[in-house]
Amino acid sequence: MGPAQRFAEGKPVKTDTKLVTAGRPHGASPAPVNPPVVRASTFLFDSLKSFQTAAKTPFDGAFYGRVGTPTTFAFEEAICALEGGHRSIATASGLAAITATITAFAEAGGHLLVPDTVYEPVRRFCTRTLGRMGIATTFYDPSIGAGIAELITEATTLIYLESPGSGTFEVQDIPAIVDVAKARGIATAIDATWATPLYLQPLSLGVDVSIHAATKYIVGHSDGMLGVLTTNAAVYDKVRATAQDLGGCAGVEECNLALRGLRTLGVRLERQGAAALELAEWLETRPEVAQVLHPALPSFPGHEIWARDFTGSSGLFSIELASHDPDAARLFIDSLQHFSIGFSWGGFESLVLPMHPESRSLPLWEGLGPVIRLQIGLEAQDDLKGDLGQALDRLTAGQPDAR
Ligand SMILES: *Cc1c(COP(=O)(O)O)cnc(C)c1O
Repeated sequence: MGPAQRFAEGKPVKTDTKLVTAGRPHGASPAPVNPPVVRASTFLFDSLKSFQTAAKTPFDGAFYGRVGTPTTFAFEEAICALEGGHRSIATASGLAAITATITAFAEAGGHLLVPDTVYEPVRRFCTRTLGRMGIATTFYDPSIGAGIAELITEATTLIYLESPGSGTFEVQDIPAIVDVAKARGIATAIDATWATPLYLQPLSLGVDVSIHAATKYIVGHSDGMLGVLTTNAAVYDKVRATAQDLGGCAGVEECNLALRGLRTLGVRLERQGAAALELAEWLETRPEVAQVLHPALPSFPGHEIWARDFTGSSGLFSIELASHDPDAARLFIDSLQHFSIGFSWGGFESLVLPMHPESRSLPLWEGLGPVIRLQIGLEAQDDLKGDLGQALDRLTAGQPDAR
């Protein structure tokens, strides 16, 4: 028995322990603490027979680099342990995990249900690429719950969820939607990136596929692109086949970065989530802020559902500015010093970005002022608070930035 197997085969352990142990080397002793980075397209076999044997189960060991190397499998194994799923599949990006999942359930002449608050590139994939192939998408109100039943047609093959919603953080009633889907024999998949595997367990709520942009909190240091999806046993073969057909395999360096990121995910999230919530509460008291869009705030619509299904909140939320002056958002963002302007989130650094909910299909966001997304990093909370405060002060002063 190798050193890792000692804990791998023990009794069930808590999440924090899994973060430390999951995906670590099995077998040989002594073994490195972390799995080595195995770079390979080609694995060499010592006989045709062993090659042919491996070809029968290409996903269960080293076979060909696109399927994965031991580094990929270690990352997949770690995520699967955290998600409580059947198997996980690593992909080139979060978007690749999403498009592989949706494609796995797409059929000619078919119909998809996707929340109107979906991550924008997913909307584009559905309308642009799938639309061209004759697959229709209805974008639904994320607060629809069991009402989703009325949108299902004979052609519906997948109900896709993203909770909370991108940029505006609407919380979906996952169990209500899953109940309807199961009754109609329709598959479900969710983008659970905001919660990470630590704060939401979609598979235990009955969702068939749980997806993460590992680019965000899992890699956690803003230096890699990676996606991962985890399925239950029922849909695994179907999703694996499509993921393989599309060829968007994960890079092994990125899998290694993600394994490293996982080890500290618990402490990073705890610290970033707590700081974000405290800042969100304080921002609610500021007159320049019309509302704070953060599911863990009791004032937020959908808070009760969040409290029922999630076990924590991460460090990303939005504010709606009170001023509808188009220059207000620019003045606020350009005045910030500790929040850099850039895509993505889930790293160690604070970020700010304007959101554009007006690009959505439903009129749910009409009349909203500028929505600005904040990613709270690991900087001293006082510095962040002071920075947000001085930027908001400028709005009250109404003075354009002199820079
Ligand atoms: C960033 C993001 C994605 C896409 O991940 P990439 O790794 O950038 O492709 C998907 N969903 C959500 C909610 C995201 O924020």
